[in-house]
Amino acid sequence: MTPKRLAKIINEINNILLPRVCFGCNAQLFRGEHVLCAVCRHDVPLTDHNYLEENAVDRIFYGRTPIKKAASFVFFSKNGLVKNLLHWLKYRNQEQIGGFLGDWCGDLLKESGQLKDIDVVVPVPLHPKKFKKRGYNQVALFARHVAGHIGADYCEDWLIKTKNTKTQTKKNRQTRWESSKDAFALETSQQHLNYKHVLLVDDVITTGATIESCAQILLQVEGLEVSVLSMALVSEG
Ligand SMILES: [Zn+2]
Repeated sequence: MTPKRLAKIINEINNILLPRVCFGCNAQLFRGEHVLCAVCRHDVPLTDHNYLEENAVDRIFYGRTPIKKAASFVFFSKNGLVKNLLHWLKYRNQEQIGGFLGDWCGDLLKESGQLKDIDVVVPVPLHPKKFKKRGYNQVALFARHVAGHIGADYCEDWLIKTKNTKTQTKKNRQTRWESSKDAFALETSQQHLNYKHVLLVDDVITTGATIESCAQILLQVEGLEVSVLSMALVSEG
């Protein structure tokens, strides 16, 4: 038996013993399906935001931080499919979900010719302690895959998190802002970033406080511009 055939058989056995299931609805996945079943994939609430027209994410930052353009990929609904996906991605060690979403989002961006002028894609960093605990930054793979599709560089080394803030789910805008203030920093000597257009990427945007804190650090670099992309958008209230 060839090694390839053996691997295929092992794979099939694995599928029977540990059936691959949809991260949205728990149904068994068919061959060719990956992460989501066809039904869930169809049900994902895409925002249809684009980088040419104003949208709800832009309006979060108006009058607060000079973000060039912002958009979110999907809507986050409290009991829905996206909540499940992001929960698996963030807390259940399923890092590959980020790559799946990044390919999907990146494909759409590329197809529509958007974000062609981005130089570098930068994920919102985790504090080293949190990184060690989780083992990965849940935004990194999404950001890396998007960068690949739009033909930009990817860099996770020079924006760092210096303050280990608590999870922010239950805080209001003011407390979120207070707690993420001074939480980020740039690694020294960032002259090579002058006049670059950076796409800052986060998992979920609620009040925009985290993005604002990061952007304010990045915008200290001469001539640098910041645009924003998040996997999901939560509407407050
Ligand atoms: Zn499903």
